[in-house]
Amino acid sequence: MRSVEITEPGKVVITTTKALGVDWHKAEFARMTNEFKRGRSRFKEKFNRCFTCDWPFQVGDGGNGEVMNIVCFKGEGNKLLCTDCYEKLTGDL
Ligand SMILES: [Zn+2]
Repeated sequence: MRSVEITEPGKVVITTTKALGVDWHKAEFARMTNEFKRGRSRFKEKFNRCFTCDWPFQVGDGGNGEVMNIVCFKGEGNKLLCTDCYEKLTGDL
């Protein structure tokens, strides 16, 4: 889906909507820890926020960090989701 809007004279904003299908998923993939954060720091994709709701994963020590769930979307690759979004998305899959 694509919509075009003239937001101000001389400027057009094009918004495209893309539907992503779930390829595979795994609950409780990892926990957000400082080690995880450090490990991802040099990557383009930091994986420090939920892919769907943008919630920042809460950092903890070892077993206390927030649970992150992994979903692989067709054509998009791996993304990390918070548990609420993960359950909503994968409910009946
Ligand atoms: Zn979320």
